[in-house]
Amino acid sequence: MLISVVVPCYNEEAALPYFLREIKTVEAQMRTDFGCCFELLFVNDGSQDGTLKLLRQFAREEERVRYLSFSRNFGKEAAMFAGLQHAKGDYVVLMDADLQHPPAMLREMYQGLQSGEFDCVAARRKNRRGEPRLRSFLARQFYKLINRISDTEIVEGACDFRMMTRQMVDAILKMGEYNRFSKGIFSWVGFRTKWLPYENVERIAGETKWSFWSLLIYSIQGIVGFSTAPLALASVLGVVLCGISFLMVLYIIIKTLLFGDPVGGWPSLACMVMFMGGIQLFCMGILGQYLAKTYLETKHRPIYILAETDEESTCEEKTD
Ligand code: UDP
Ligand code: MG
Repeated sequence: MLISVVVPCYNEEAALPYFLREIKTVEAQMRTDFGCCFELLFVNDGSQDGTLKLLRQFAREEERVRYLSFSRNFGKEAAMFAGLQHAKGDYVVLMDADLQHPPAMLREMYQGLQSGEFDCVAARRKNRRGEPRLRSFLARQFYKLINRISDTEIVEGACDFRMMTRQMVDAILKMGEYNRFSKGIFSWVGFRTKWLPYENVERIAGETKWSFWSLLIYSIQGIVGFSTAPLALASVLGVVLCGISFLMVLYIIIKTLLFGDPVGGWPSLACMVMFMGGIQLFCMGILGQYLAKTYLETKHRPIYILAETDEESTCEEKTD
């Protein structure tokens, strides 16, 4: 039984040595207890620090370490996709390099899959302790909104840390979309998932790569990727506003017949023009979002580009 551990790494020079040490401990235990072997597949997502050098060194020292290196930063989604494509294991694990995903949970995940009752065992954060208040609040609102407007269930607090069977991995690989939103993809492919709650852990070293804006853009990507409800919003608003304007026409006709037609009311007119303009631009913006994603999908660009792997290392001892 081979377990592939896929680890996306972007500027993780500081955390990687800790990660390797921890995962090796867990592997040793699982090898004696269950007789399974690990394959560690690191994906260097265009890091600017010494991550690649470190990965080359790991791969030279240990046979079970493999790595893929991108030609530039393509994002975590692309890194996970590449890792899944190149993983050879019967079970595949996705986990972060910063030890925020406790390797000790791999045992329980493995047992969950071995029981045959599940195809995927995934970790789920119990709470958002240690996170800014505003961010937690917005995150909760995001989950509420997307679950209301999307048919695909996006589980709150679910993270990418999970172990999957080969069958589920193959299903995920069939979804070759360019705009990837893993939380949606995992749920869309179905299969039986077991959730393991865990306490949020601080990252061991280095810094998070997610800013407030990148999270916001990612959430919009999630909504556009897994719901078309916003597109219907324009039609609904249009119908409602038509109804209101019809009533207003009736009101004005009756008022003119009864009281004559004194000119006035330009401020209210100006407000209405602004309001309508705002709504129209808003709806056009939504349309634009979907159009932009469609545009990018139709280009059929590769999700990532490899520059180097452990099998064809271009420069063994290159110094930066
Ligand atoms: N990551 C990546 N490419 C990126 C950003 C992040 O491969 O463009 C990796 C990163 O190295 C880490 C994982 O994705 O292993 C999670 O990133 P991070 O810890 O910054 O996110 P957080 O845990 O704060 O959500
Ligand atoms: Mg992290």
